Amino acid sequence: MQLVYYPDPRLTRSAEPIRTIDDEVRERAAAMIDLMHESKGVGLAANQVGWLERLIVVSPTAERGQETVLVNPVIREASGRKVGEEGCLSVPGVYADIERAARVTVEALDLDGEPISIETGGLAAVVLQHEIDHLDGILFLSKMTPADRARHRKRLAEMDEEFRAAQDA
Ligand SMILES: [Zn+2]
Repeated sequence: MQLVYYPDPRLTRSAEPIRTIDDEVRERAAAMIDLMHESKGVGLAANQVGWLERLIVVSPTAERGQETVLVNPVIREASGRKVGEEGCLSVPGVYADIERAARVTVEALDLDGEPISIETGGLAAVVLQHEIDHLDGILFLSKMTPADRARHRKRLAEMDEEFRAAQDA
C-alpha cells in the first residue's frame, strides 16, 4: 500500500460504497492507519492509497490508538463557517487556508458494520470534511482562493510534470 500523489486520476474519482465489511476491509483499514501515522497525517481516505471504496481513517490528535475508522461516511448536518490552513498527504508541500463548516454530524458504519454518529467541531470537523471530500474525488486544491492557487501554481505544475514523466517511464 502506497500513497498516490496529485495529479493521479484516482484522487479525482468518486469512490464506491462498501457493501460487505469483511477481513479485507479491516486489514485495509489497519494498513491505512499505519500509513497515516508513518506519513505524519491526521486523516487518510482510501482514494489516497488507490482504492476507490468509501473508507476513511482519521486521527485528529495524531495519537496511536486514537484513530476512528469510518465506512461509507456521510455528512448529515453541517453548521457555521471557519477558515483554517490545510495540507494533504497527496499534495506534499502545498498548504492553504480553506473554508469549511465549523461543526458537522457524520454518520457511518464501523468495522463491525454497526452504525455510528459523530458530532464534532474543531480540527476533527475539518479532517472529516477533508477526507469525505476525497471519497467524492474532491481535493482541497479546488477550494483554494485564486490567490493561493496562483501562489502554488509552480509547485502544482512541477507535480504534473513529475506525474507525466513517471507515466512515460
Ligand atoms: Zn487529503
